[in-house]
Amino acid sequence: MKEDCIFCRIANGQIPSATLYEDENFRVILDLGPASRGHALILPKEHYQNLLELDDTLAAGVIPLAKKMGAAMSKALGCAGFNLVQNNGEAAGQTVPHFHVHIIPRYGEEPRIVTWNPGKASQDEMDQIVEAVRAEL
Ligand code: AMP
Ligand code: ZN
Repeated sequence: MKEDCIFCRIANGQIPSATLYEDENFRVILDLGPASRGHALILPKEHYQNLLELDDTLAAGVIPLAKKMGAAMSKALGCAGFNLVQNNGEAAGQTVPHFHVHIIPRYGEEPRIVTWNPGKASQDEMDQIVEAVRAEL
């Protein structure tokens, strides 16, 4: 773990948190600035700055855990749905540089939380994007 990383310290129990779930690899806590009632964060106990750094074996555990939490939160909180949000890099709104996944319960009353304005892309531009990305895989 990284000593100067707040999420490392929370995930490893050095700073107390409202913990919903904990296992060998992850801690799930309530977000201190919730977008909705029950907004939670999945934190790996090891330090990875973002998804690109995250170990593949740990990454494979993230969606099953999000599913387990989403199911429990839906029953316990009565939310009608939930968003999974995962920001990578400051440009994407990441403010804490320790990989995490937001689970944001939705009750059907809030305005859209995860939103964008649909734009346009020409066929030519899409062809260029497809070629450029495929070349990097
Ligand atoms: P992101 O913008 O994806 O990096 O999200 C960081 C999230 O961490 C925000 O929703 C914050 O409210 C939350 N947060 C920051 N510090 C703490 C903390 N000490 N305990 C719980 N949540 C925190
Ligand atoms: Zn960390």
